[in-house]
Amino acid sequence: MLDQSPNGAPSASDRTIDFLSSTHKLLIDGNEVHGASGETFETYDPALGKTLTSVPNAKQTDVDAAVTAARSALAGPWQKMAPSDRAQVLMRLADLIERDASWISEVESLDSGKPKLHIAAVDVPLAVGALRYYAGWCTKLAGETIPASSPDMLVYTRREPIGVVAAIVPWNFPLCQACFKIAPALAAGCTVILKPAEQTPLSALILGKLALEAGIPPGVLNVLTGDGTTTGQALVEHPGVAKISFTGSEEVGKHIARTASKTLKHVSLELGGKNPNIIFADSDVDTAAATAAGAIFFYTGQVCSAGSRLMVEEKAFDQVVDRVVAEARKLKMGHGLHEETTLGPLISEDQLERVNGFVERSRETGIDVVTGGRRGKGELASGSFYEPTVLTGARDTDGVVTDEIFGPVLTIQAFESFDDLVKRANASSFGLAAGIWTHDIAKAHAAAAAIQAGTVWVNTYNQFDAAVGWGGFKQSGYGKDNGREGLDKYLQTKTVWVNYAR
Ligand code: NAD
Repeated sequence: MLDQSPNGAPSASDRTIDFLSSTHKLLIDGNEVHGASGETFETYDPALGKTLTSVPNAKQTDVDAAVTAARSALAGPWQKMAPSDRAQVLMRLADLIERDASWISEVESLDSGKPKLHIAAVDVPLAVGALRYYAGWCTKLAGETIPASSPDMLVYTRREPIGVVAAIVPWNFPLCQACFKIAPALAAGCTVILKPAEQTPLSALILGKLALEAGIPPGVLNVLTGDGTTTGQALVEHPGVAKISFTGSEEVGKHIARTASKTLKHVSLELGGKNPNIIFADSDVDTAAATAAGAIFFYTGQVCSAGSRLMVEEKAFDQVVDRVVAEARKLKMGHGLHEETTLGPLISEDQLERVNGFVERSRETGIDVVTGGRRGKGELASGSFYEPTVLTGARDTDGVVTDEIFGPVLTIQAFESFDDLVKRANASSFGLAAGIWTHDIAKAHAAAAAIQAGTVWVNTYNQFDAAVGWGGFKQSGYGKDNGREGLDKYLQTKTVWVNYAR
């Protein structure tokens, strides 16, 4: 249970304490139920290294029950609900999340380590924005008539839901990743089984209850907490699931694609990134450098779009390093419930060991650790805190440059020319996002065209909007979340031929 004041952690609200002390259950067919096996697992506060609470570990029997419920809701109440009513319940769910935003942010902060204020300012508006944006689409899922050359034939298309969707999400943005999948899937008329990550299961349980309160019929949104290799794997193998909407690591994504092929499921994969953030000397270098610090250190670097590889035109290199290091040193590590905290812990000790491994190998190979490079000390020692770290002198082939570290570790490298830059930036196996900083409009567009990434930000970084598709190229996956493309993947098109010859 949550200890209220170790390491100077501020007390959580009574509502949160009550929630954490309650018995958590799965949500299947509108009912809160114990897992069939009775097995549970613990979730931790990574800032304190302490158990928060336990949740059920859903097994095959629970997955079967959730799939049965989702299939009958698909053909039943959800299909029968008028599109305008479907839109209304999605809008109501958005309102309820806003109503409870402060509480949800507190629970999510404890579960993920992320500062509560960041969750309230970023995650909650993104989640609510997705629900409201896709609510608007419910009434606009029009097919078309096709002028086929056969005589006396009316040919039209219907846009139909693809079926039961398993939404499998990671721990870094639990609430908003869930809504990026639930909102378009429900708008398309699909029903959903949500499986949150084992590290951060709590906001999904809250979301399930709010969905019922919003009037979403039982069985339309089911929530199964559980581990990837049991619950997740059973969902991916289940013949009653039509689509896997996955966000997570490259390795698991590829495993899911292979497994899902056995039942020919539709699969969309939002995977990792090693994103070049590129500063030309003709840009507003100071602003670019300050933003570059935010681009890597936000949520302790545990962000798929993190600008983890900063590439700077030689002339501006020293200025950028100085400013990024100054920004890194301003960050305040601490518990996510402290208002002044700007850098929370890593999600777990395993993650800390992994991040530290990259830095230690860098030290051994002569890469310069300009700032950071150690775990938090003193009051922070029992949490998974890691200092914001800046490395210079890395080669393009070093692991810190090629691999997704998923921690607060930035490499800064110099480049000589436009061509040199494009070649090196594109050498990555990933292709999720990139940033470009320049005042030269021709250079900006040329770089945006040349960089292999699903999103390119020019003179900005980490902009997201429910209306704008998000997804990667290359090993960063396929299929977009958000925007119109984020809806299309939950729909299938049926063609109807009508002979009207008399
Ligand atoms: P992960 O792949 O370990 O886990 C993601 C989810 O998959 C979890 O819910 C997990 O339980 C489940 N899972 C694990 N094994 C499974 C299996 N065999 N079958 C079905 N489900 C299984 O990823 P993570 O560590 O939680 O998240 C970090 C990764 O997510 C990073 O690589 C990051 O870049 C990526 N990510 C990508 C985006 C994006 O939009 N592209 C966004 C956020 C995170």
